[in-house]
Formats: sequence, structure tokens, C-alpha cells
Amino acid sequence: MMYYSTNGRAPLATLEKAVVKGLAEDRGLYMPERIQRLPDSFFDRIQDMDFHEVACAVAEAFFGEDVDKDVLDAIVCDTLSFDCPAVKVEGRIYALELFHGPTLAFKDVGARFMARLLGHFRSGESLNVLVATSGDTGSAVANGFLGVEGINVFVLYPKGKVSPIQECQFTTLGRNITALEIDGVFDDCQALVKSAFMDAELNAAMKLTSANSINVARFLPQSFYYFWGYAQMKRSGLADNLVVCTPSGNFGNICAGLFAKRMGLPVKRFIAANNANSVFYDYLRTGVYSPRPSVQTIANAMDVGDPSNFARVIDLYGHDWDAVKADISGTTYSDEQIAETIRDVFGRTGYLCDPHGACGYRALAEGLRPGETGLFCETAHPAKFKDTVEGIIGAGVAIPDKLQAFMRGRKENVSLPNDYQAFKAFLTGR
Ligand SMILES: *Cc1c(COP(=O)(O)O)cnc(C)c1O
Repeated sequence: MMYYSTNGRAPLATLEKAVVKGLAEDRGLYMPERIQRLPDSFFDRIQDMDFHEVACAVAEAFFGEDVDKDVLDAIVCDTLSFDCPAVKVEGRIYALELFHGPTLAFKDVGARFMARLLGHFRSGESLNVLVATSGDTGSAVANGFLGVEGINVFVLYPKGKVSPIQECQFTTLGRNITALEIDGVFDDCQALVKSAFMDAELNAAMKLTSANSINVARFLPQSFYYFWGYAQMKRSGLADNLVVCTPSGNFGNICAGLFAKRMGLPVKRFIAANNANSVFYDYLRTGVYSPRPSVQTIANAMDVGDPSNFARVIDLYGHDWDAVKADISGTTYSDEQIAETIRDVFGRTGYLCDPHGACGYRALAEGLRPGETGLFCETAHPAKFKDTVEGIIGAGVAIPDKLQAFMRGRKENVSLPNDYQAFKAFLTGR
């Protein structure tokens, strides 16, 4: 299958090129040329399948022409080494818990799949992944690529600007992961990575790639757990009039859900829950998309003022505002509302949402119509936002063993000045 660019001015790309390049030449996002509808027989028996069977069937619909079935199935099963259970919160509201992976957030699914697919496409030569992070992306990417043969990962992060819990998730790994502590801010890290990608001499000396979240191999696999969420709801007899709510920042996660719907997944409608960064909400209201600088919130992984996957969403709906609105509605919540929701749900039900999932819960609590059942993506474990959540509920949040194991690990990093030549010398001197 070939991939086209949402900007329409780049040549079609093979899956391999789309995965290695990430972004098209015209700076558009790659989209698969066709979205295959899965047969009725698949949906008739989905409730009797396990997560791996469901995900392999979905993966074959996207990647089956380009990757041999046994290789693809192995990549899928290796990626999904953890469950994504649908858990009742209260009444007709369920949480699809996406935080049972190595770094306790949904980004593990896409990062692990991409790492394995890239490892498969690598032909002899070693590949170098450069990633700038303000926290979460670095840990998901580093852990996703950990131990993948022939791929070296360099995580650039700003000195003193990343929480200790986040930092330990990419500085204690060793093996093929190198953490570079830059004496600067996040934007400096990002600028160093950009300079490296534009440096012809460096690119001739070593093969560089980004593990950006717009990569098709990071975004499409996120559709696996929407099918699995549906399968679990159907098994419990709750799949009729199912509404799915995704807390959204760059809109990669919800976009994968919309692809799932296009593949035939019987979801009635989607809700995109935003924090105070309400660009998409405003687009739904007005039909006008006006990106603006992000504002800082307690659901900080959704602090996005110009969602990169907006281009994919409107491409999927043929740039038709009414068609977008027919499938997706939106909400926006202030930090006060997010805090109130976490406190209220925890007090009433004992279920502890993280600040992102809280937006998802609230959108369903406010927006479900009679006869509908709601499933929201709980995108991260609340312990990832320990200080914030403890401040809200006035009680301690236990840190899961997986996170504690990172915190016990030995920190190894390389300190570099905020200087491109020093960064380049480090990369080439290895
Ligand atoms: C990245 C992230 C989001 C936003 O997902 P998008 O795909 O960017 O919309 C939401 N919650 C958490 C915890 C995240 O890490």
C-alpha cells in the first residue's frame, strides 16, 4: 500500500519510506491510500477473540501488503506485552486503561510498534533516532526502542526542567539508549535535533531518523486498542450506542479511533476532550481553525496550540466541517474543572483519574444521551502526575512497581552545552 501526503505535493511513499522519513517532503503527514473495512464476520465474533487476535487482524488490514504475516504478527504481539482493560467507573461510564505499558501511558503502544517495524525495515546499516523531549515522549520512545537491534536512540532533554520521575525513565536504561542532558530549555533541544536533520554532512555520515508522533507507525497502531475496547464492551453486552471519548492534544490518539470507525468499528460517535487549549473545540463551534500558542495546564500532555494531526482529521473527512461534526463533538475544561472532577470521581467511586483521563470522564458524564454507554481513554497512570494528583485529593498516590524500578536504576547521562557543534562532535565521535 502507498501513502500520500496531506499537503498533496509530495510523491506517494512506500510504508518503509513513510516510516523512516516520518514527514513527507512537502511537510505534510502521510495517510494510507486506502482504509480497508473489516468484514462483518470479524465483528460478529470479536467478543470471542483475545487482544492479540484482534490487533493482528487490524494490523494486517493496514500493513499486510507490505510486511509478511508472521513477521507482522510477531511485531504486534511483542508490542502488546500488556493489556488495555475496559474498567467500570460508574453507571454507564467505563475507562479504557491504556497505562499498563512500561512507561504507564498510551504512547507506549505506538512507540513500541514503531521501534519494531523500523527494526524490521533496517537493512544492515544502523539507524540513529534523535528525540527531543520535555518529559513523556522521551520515556515512551526510549523504552519502545530499548534493546531493538541496530537502532541507537539519543534523547535530548533540558537540564533541570524534567521531573525526576520522568527523567529516570530514560536515563537509567543503558544499552542502546543515550540520554543527553542539554544546558538549555526544551526549545533548544528541539533546535539541536532539527539542525542535525538538516546537516547534509552529518546525514551522509550516519543514518538519522525521528520517532515523531506524526509517524504512521506510531499513530496507526493506536487503533488496536479501540477495537479491543469495543470487544470487551460487547462481551459484557454494553456495545450498543457506544460513545468513545479521547483526551486529546495533538489528536493522534483520537485520529486512530476515527480510522477504526472507518474500518467498520461500530462506535456511535467520538468526543475529543480538551483542557484549556481549545483550538479543536473552537473549530467544531465555528468552522474556523485558528492555531495559537499553547497555555500551560495540569493536563500538560495536552498543552497543544496547533495539533499536528488536525491535518489528518480533516483529510479523513474530505475537509468537510459538517462531516467532522457528525462524528466528533468536543469539550474544553479549565484546571479547576479537571481538579474538581478528579476529586469528585475519587470521592464517590474510589476510581482515581489522572488529569488527562479526568477530561475524558467529565465529557462523558456531561454528554452521554439516554441509551448510550461511554468509554473514555485513561491515557496515563495517575502516579505519573503524583504531585498534582496528591495535591488535589489530599492523599498519597502509590507509585507502581514498574515506576519504582526506574527510580532505583542507576542514572547515566551525558551533559552537553547548548551548542550544535558540540552535539555533532558527540554523535560523530562515537
Ligand atoms: C500525549 C498524551 C495525550 C494526548 O494525546 P494526543 O495523541 O497527542 O492527542 C493525552 N494524555 C496523555 C497522558 C498523553 O501523554
